[in-house]
Amino acid sequence: MIIHLKNTVAEPVAHEIAHQLQAIVFKEADCFVLVTPFALKSLPDAVLPHVQATWPMDTDIQLASKSYKNELRRIRWGSTEIGGDTNHTVVIAGPCSIESWEQIESVAKLLKSLNISTLRAGCYKPRTSPYTFQGLGLEGLKMLAEVRRQYGLNIITEVKDSSHIEAVIEYTDIVQIGAKAMYDQSILRRCGEIRKPVLLKRGFGTTLQEFVQAAEFILSGGNSEVILCERGIRTFETKTRFTFDLCGAAWLKQHTNCTVILDPSHAMGYAYGVPDLAKASVAFGCDGLLIETHPNPKEAKSDASQQLDFEEFTNLMTDMRKIAGAVGKELI
Ligand code: PEP
Ligand code: MN
Repeated sequence: MIIHLKNTVAEPVAHEIAHQLQAIVFKEADCFVLVTPFALKSLPDAVLPHVQATWPMDTDIQLASKSYKNELRRIRWGSTEIGGDTNHTVVIAGPCSIESWEQIESVAKLLKSLNISTLRAGCYKPRTSPYTFQGLGLEGLKMLAEVRRQYGLNIITEVKDSSHIEAVIEYTDIVQIGAKAMYDQSILRRCGEIRKPVLLKRGFGTTLQEFVQAAEFILSGGNSEVILCERGIRTFETKTRFTFDLCGAAWLKQHTNCTVILDPSHAMGYAYGVPDLAKASVAFGCDGLLIETHPNPKEAKSDASQQLDFEEFTNLMTDMRKIAGAVGKELI
């Protein structure tokens, strides 16, 4: 059950009630919000005078549920906004990894020329092998901060584990939690405490239920700005890197109040399929796309096979703008 306390209820009282109900408590703009285990069906008499509104729930998808907030959560960073009553589809683009100043500066210039506001590049890479490029770490974060300063772009980068979470939070405008880190509860809980958007990627072996439950860790910490990202799941198929779960994305759209961003690059794993999937994603009506682009994909230090070169990416932007217009969306 979700409970909004009256806005006159003071913090110690809110915490006392939360303790009594074994509820999680956090402060929203104008009141304290309590979330109790879903089995709770009624409230003790002594608590009732403090209560403004309640939403009984029969699953532990609570704060993300449409039956709590029917409208799409509004997510803002810099001057960019998605969700709420906007019709925006945001394009977030960049290389898989930041590799050098020259590389990231060329991407920044490309994005600026295409009116794209948000650059994504990984600094801490969750590689499957310890023998491959692991990312530039803090040096990469500092370069991204310099990109923001010089080019006015917003920055999103990934947190891989809790050892560098504070640095990522400090340097970025949006924190990305990658598919492999999606179950890390110390990352999820820490992201619940911050007041920046968090892009949560679905693990490739994660059910939709588990995915939204992970989002609940962030939401129940009081951070209302969670973006869900579908990036492909593992199926029996081996010809493509993963299987792009648009059915899952449709389910998220129908049942949750979180914005949904689609990542065709990681789903497909091969550049040849990315433009078609990206166009399908725009037609689908997603709130945003995450697309990997690199000045010289063949030489990329991670995810070389799936990154678009600048010409492919530029052509894709032209096509996506047309499709967005046809489905009543504005590509930003
Ligand atoms: C990435 O975004 O570059 C990445 C590692 O993606 P994922 O977490 O989806 O595998
Ligand atoms: Mn990548």
